[in-house]
Amino acid sequence: MMNVPLLDLNQQNSALEDELTDTFKRVLRSGQFILGPEVQKFEKQVAEMIGTRHALGVTSGTDAILLALMALDIGAGDEVICPSFTFFATAGCISRVGAKPVFVDACPVCFNLEVSDVKRRITSRTKAIIPVHLFGQAASMNEIMALAAPHKIAVIEDAAQSLGARYRGQAVGTLGTFGTFSFFPSKNLGGFGDSGMLVCNDDALAERARLLRTHGAQPKYFHKLVGGNFRIDALQAALLAVKLPHLPEYIRQRQVNAARYTERLSSLPGVVRATVEHCTCCGNLGRDQTNHPSANQKVQIVLPVARVENEHIWNQYTLRVLGNGQRDALKLFLTERHIGTEVYYPVPMHAQECFAALRAKDAEFGNTNALARECLSLPVYPELSEAQQDDVIEAIARFLQRQQS
Ligand SMILES: *Cc1c(COP(=O)(O)O)cnc(C)c1O
Repeated sequence: MMNVPLLDLNQQNSALEDELTDTFKRVLRSGQFILGPEVQKFEKQVAEMIGTRHALGVTSGTDAILLALMALDIGAGDEVICPSFTFFATAGCISRVGAKPVFVDACPVCFNLEVSDVKRRITSRTKAIIPVHLFGQAASMNEIMALAAPHKIAVIEDAAQSLGARYRGQAVGTLGTFGTFSFFPSKNLGGFGDSGMLVCNDDALAERARLLRTHGAQPKYFHKLVGGNFRIDALQAALLAVKLPHLPEYIRQRQVNAARYTERLSSLPGVVRATVEHCTCCGNLGRDQTNHPSANQKVQIVLPVARVENEHIWNQYTLRVLGNGQRDALKLFLTERHIGTEVYYPVPMHAQECFAALRAKDAEFGNTNALARECLSLPVYPELSEAQQDDVIEAIARFLQRQQS
């Protein structure tokens, strides 16, 4: 058995060490550390890759969401719809601008927000919807845009986990009013610290966001708006510009790894593939229709799927481990064998202490609660070797044998 970490940043970055070091020296010697040509170059690179008019390098994926909400002038008295099954930043930013997060349930098949639940929660106060393209594949954007458009509701795509993913051939982040990305080291384009990107096709909104990124000043010391300091570092942008051309290869390798997991794991007894026909956010079958362990089974593993509209970039390869306590048992079993896994996310937003005052009804989040109990993400990073992956598969096979007998 070898060590299989959840992620191995050193392997990816050391392959580019000379180029990264040269880039560091170039920026060091330039003496320009705030905005300037390095930032512009990286913004242009991202804009061209995904096909958007405007791209703004920012301090983090979180601040990209915050900036989008600020640019849309969303605040007190407004409601913003977002999934309960997401990373905290999505919901936290809504609260930070003074608006009310309105949580929706998740689809148990693609893990993204359930469209029928979005529809149910739209009110006259709804100013925006934030779909999250979770784990590397797009939410149901056509359906969400169709719900938003007649009410002039803005759509902010939280694509922190999905740079390079496509929906019906179009890059995610470019379909809504705004798109937000993160370069946190564990994201599929991982930086060297915190940073993010805000993208948009609307010239006026982009200009507002650009002002807000630097304290709303235009010109310097004359403040039109109350903004903040949300600028990406020039050094960060320059280093990310070295990695960006490799992103298609990183993505391809993640796709190879995901396909290999699905092929090998699906042949094990006790493992089933989620079927896209059961995707509740496509609106066909109602709520959670995925299999549950039969009476003679203690555990069952459901493998993730990519919806046909989606090019999935597999930022996470996430299993559902069905059966009481079985997810935690598998996690422990793998940890003991030096295999890294992570639970994204153990506590949904509607159940967070800081959102208790919203009084979200736990019973309305059946799918989300199930996912919080069942999800387990496996190592799927680009540099994962076949031998390491075989160890993961072998360990899961043993776990299933042990639990079934
Ligand atoms: C990582 C992440 C963010 C926040 O990005 P940071 O760069 O860490 O601030 C927001 N939303 C989702 C869904 C994320 O996964």
